[in-house]
Amino acid sequence: MALAVSSSSLLPAEQLVKLNTTTFQPLDRSRVVSLSLSGKRCVAVKALNAESKRNDAIVTSAATTCAPDVMQKPVEVEDFDKLAKDLENSSPLEIMDKALEKYGNDIAIAFSGAEDVALIEYAHLTGRPYRVFSLDTGRLNPETYKFFDAVEKHYNIRIEYMFPDSVEVQALVRTKGLFSFYEDGHQECCRVRKVRPLRRALKGLRAWITGQRKDQSPGTRSQVPVVQVDPVFEGLDGGSGSLVKWNPVANVAGNDIWNFLRTMDVPVNSLHAQGYVSIGCEPCTRAVLPGQHEREGRWWWEDAKAKECGLHKGNIKEEAVNGNGNGNGTLHTNESVSDIFNSNDIVSLTRPGIENLLKMEGRKDPWMVVLYAPWCQFCQAMEASYVELAEKLAGSGMKVGKFRADGDEKAFAHQELQLGSFPTILLFPKHSSRPIKYSSEKRDVDSLMAFVNALR
Ligand code: SF4
Repeated sequence: MALAVSSSSLLPAEQLVKLNTTTFQPLDRSRVVSLSLSGKRCVAVKALNAESKRNDAIVTSAATTCAPDVMQKPVEVEDFDKLAKDLENSSPLEIMDKALEKYGNDIAIAFSGAEDVALIEYAHLTGRPYRVFSLDTGRLNPETYKFFDAVEKHYNIRIEYMFPDSVEVQALVRTKGLFSFYEDGHQECCRVRKVRPLRRALKGLRAWITGQRKDQSPGTRSQVPVVQVDPVFEGLDGGSGSLVKWNPVANVAGNDIWNFLRTMDVPVNSLHAQGYVSIGCEPCTRAVLPGQHEREGRWWWEDAKAKECGLHKGNIKEEAVNGNGNGNGTLHTNESVSDIFNSNDIVSLTRPGIENLLKMEGRKDPWMVVLYAPWCQFCQAMEASYVELAEKLAGSGMKVGKFRADGDEKAFAHQELQLGSFPTILLFPKHSSRPIKYSSEKRDVDSLMAFVNALR
C-alpha cells in the first residue's frame, strides 16, 4: 500500500533523522514550507513502500517521522457540537488549520479527484504537514488518474491510494457482471469498491477531512457541520465516536470553490471542462447541463434524494440506504410498516391480479403499476406524486395500480416484472401484454405524466 508523504517528509535521509530527534517542530510553519519545497522524493518512496504494521489501514510512516510531538499528544475529549458551532463562521483555511493542528499525522484528507483538490490547497496553505488518501475503485476515468498524477507533482506529495479487495471485486463481477449497478443500484458495487476500502483507511486514523458541502445534495447534505463525530465509521481506537470528520468547505458554495481554485491556479480535473461537476467512477458519472444540479451527474438512474455512495451515508437515514432494493431485504419486510400509495384512485393488485395483467393482450385500458415496498424510502418519497398522478388520471381511461413486490413476491417480480430496485414503475400499454419499464429517476408528476402520454 502506498503511504502518504506530507510536505515535510520530502527530505534527505539525514535531515529526517535529525528532525525526528530534536529539531523539527510541527508548528514551525515557515520551516515546514521551505523544507517541503527543497525536499527530494527518494527517501520518502522507501517509506511509502514499507509494509504496514496495521494491516492495510492507512498507517503513518514518513509523516509520523516528521511530527512525533503531535502523535504523542493525547487526543482531548471534546464537545464537537460546540466546536462545530464555534467554527461555523470560520474560513475553510482556519478550519483546516485547526484540524491539522489537533490531529497531526492521525488525520488525512479524502481526495476524490474532483474540485476537492481545494482541500489540498488549503492544507498546503497552512504550512503544516498533511496527508492525502484516495480510493482507486478501478473504474475511474483516465482523466482522473492523470489528475492524481498532476496533483502529486504540483504539491510534491504522494497520495495514499486505497484499493478494493480483489477477491470481493472478482466475486461481484463474476456473479453479476461489470455493470450490475445499473440493474440493482450502486450500493453493492460502492460497498465493495469504495466503502470497505475507505473503512480500512479510516481504521488507521483518528480524523479525516472531506470536501462535503451543503449545496452538493439538497436531500442528503444540507445539514453537514464543519466538524462532527463520524456517525458511520470507526477510527484507530475502534468503537463509535473514535473518528472525527472535518468538513472545512461545508458552508462554501460550489462557485466560490471554483473562484478559489482559479485564483490559486490549482490543477483541476480536465473532465470539468467537459461539463462534469461531481466526479466519481466513469460508468456512474456524466456531464450535466447548465442549470442541472451537480448530483444529477451521479447515479442518474436512481432517486435524486439518496445519491450517497456510502462514504457519507450518515447524511441519510440507514433505512434509506438499505432500502434501495439491494440491501438486506429481510430487515425491511416488517409487516408493521404502514402501507403506502393509499388512494381511491390506485388499485391494489394481488399476485393473481398482476399475473392476469401480464396475460391480457389487447386489454381495453392501459395500466400504470408501481412495484413497491412500503419500508423503502424511495417509494415513500414518490408517494405524493404517484397519488397525485392517479388523481389526475382518474376517469381518463388509464388505470393506476400498485403491487407490493418485496418479501415472497420479490423473486417473482424480478423474474416477471423487471424489478430492479424499488420503486419500479411499469406501464402496460393498451394492445400489448409486455410492460414497459419507466427508466428515469425523475418521479415528479410531470415526468410520470409525460411517460404515460407518450405510451398509453
Ligand atoms: Fe461501482 Fe459506480 Fe460505485 Fe464506482 S460509483 S464503486 S462503479 S457503483
